[in-house]
Amino acid sequence: MPLAKPSDPTTSVLLHFSLKGKTACVTGGARGIGLEVCRAFAEAGASVALIYTSSKDADETASKIAKETGSTVKAYRSDVREKATITDTINQIAKDFGKLDICVANAGIAAHHDSLTYGVEDWQEIMRVNLDGAMWTAQAAGNIFKRQGPGAGSMIFTASVSAILVNIPQRQSAYNASKAAVVHLAKCLAVEWTEFARVNCISPGFIETDMLSVHPKEWRDKWFTMIPGGRLCDPAELKGAYVYLASDASSYMTGANMVIDGGYTLP
Ligand code: NAD
Repeated sequence: MPLAKPSDPTTSVLLHFSLKGKTACVTGGARGIGLEVCRAFAEAGASVALIYTSSKDADETASKIAKETGSTVKAYRSDVREKATITDTINQIAKDFGKLDICVANAGIAAHHDSLTYGVEDWQEIMRVNLDGAMWTAQAAGNIFKRQGPGAGSMIFTASVSAILVNIPQRQSAYNASKAAVVHLAKCLAVEWTEFARVNCISPGFIETDMLSVHPKEWRDKWFTMIPGGRLCDPAELKGAYVYLASDASSYMTGANMVIDGGYTLP
């Protein structure tokens, strides 16, 4: 079965970007990149499930976006590390909204450790959130997409430029390996799922969110001097890319990794 074609590929390109009538869920949706993705999808007309794990004001955040955009936005608490938990959450979202068209596996954590002394728990925690969590999120969504029928879904992973190159100074082997695995996982699922979903990644460079503060200041200072674009990226600058991959505008794109990094990976 070939990739689904939009019902009329010759209509206005603006209609191709519309998410009206679609339902989306986004993990790590209460802050940073995920929050901007939820806002973008709601602005484009989708009903949105904002999945969070620890935010105290996720319900208020969802209500605020709903009020600003006129779209339905609801918050769901879950934990991507737990297969049964995130599967139940995504099944519940599909039940509450009547279907699921778009899923963004965006939750992630960063940490730095010496690869000669890594402890089992530190290593596994990164993998559990960034790789296992991405897989369980995708698996739950993929099963719903498959049940819904041909061309039903768009699966998007938030990977990283760390999947492509090694930041200097390095001590992020687990994070980098987890993100490289996510990019390859997306390619595998893209091939397996052509009948019922497109699967793509977005690999951001340095985005101004809480995650950047995990790293020592001297590392950040070094990285910033290496961005040809000369500045950090506001998370809202990623909105267009996520809407593109979620929408019919990218109907022939699957297995791709969109790098959005101000040129960081070029030199
Ligand atoms: P962030 O720290 O603001 O957001 C991470 C989100 O993941 C938070 O909402 C957090 O609650 C959620 N999360 C963490 N553990 C979870 C769990 N067990 N279950 C469910 N949710 C969980 O940082 P961000 O920059 O918005 O990160 C979003 C994604 O972008 C991550 O996957 C990150 O690796 C990736 N990324 C970020 C940058 C950057 O420079 N900020 C660059 C490349 C990739």
